[in-house]
Amino acid sequence: MEGYELPAEEKTMITHELLNQEYKPLRLDPRRSHMHELISTMLSHRTNHKDEEKAFYTMMERFGDWEGVMNAPFDDLAEAISTTRYPGQKVPQIQEALRIIKEERGEFSIDFLEDMPVEEALAWLTRLPGVGLKTATLVLLFNFKKPVLPVDTHVFRISQRVGLIGAKVTANKAHDILLGMLPKDALVLFNFHKHLLKHGQLICTWSYPRCEKCVLNGVCNYYNQVRAKGIDRAA
Ligand code: SF4
Repeated sequence: MEGYELPAEEKTMITHELLNQEYKPLRLDPRRSHMHELISTMLSHRTNHKDEEKAFYTMMERFGDWEGVMNAPFDDLAEAISTTRYPGQKVPQIQEALRIIKEERGEFSIDFLEDMPVEEALAWLTRLPGVGLKTATLVLLFNFKKPVLPVDTHVFRISQRVGLIGAKVTANKAHDILLGMLPKDALVLFNFHKHLLKHGQLICTWSYPRCEKCVLNGVCNYYNQVRAKGIDRAA
């Protein structure tokens, strides 16, 4: 049996191990406060990291604190976060999310998620406007070290190309499938996510994957069934 024909569970662990060797294991230390991570991740939708950061710091500088952001006039807040894509959609989502957090918890804090079971915490976060599974899993993994897996565009694309998930699987379903094949260990899941993200930016890019340089090519469906046969070049 060729490497790419192995069961998806085995390929998932091989992918994790090969990328761990390639990019070296990372420590899982929260990069910013819980509220900062939540709101910044909302700002990051379809926006690069630099523009998301600019929007966050402009917003905080202009409105001072969460109370100020929550009560800011629509146009002023939209202008402050205008380096992000779709600021007009993000303004009501962020302000409503802040309102819900303040109303339900009495303060602008999501620290309570620490003690909540994973499923409950996921359900609570995804009830907030503008917070989907990707944002919720990112906050819960990066900040609370809960065993969940953010499936961003890179994780999703590489998982499909390698054949860890099927071609017709949705991103939300991919979360459950990939999670089911990985250890329920936050550090493993964090490294799996971060390494696939880096690999997607450097090697397995959307437009033209650099398969010949890729450490995953021995187990990858795309490489063995498409690239090695020259099908993509012929197209
Ligand atoms: S072999 Fe090619 S398609 Fe497969 S993961 Fe590597 S770069 Fe992506």
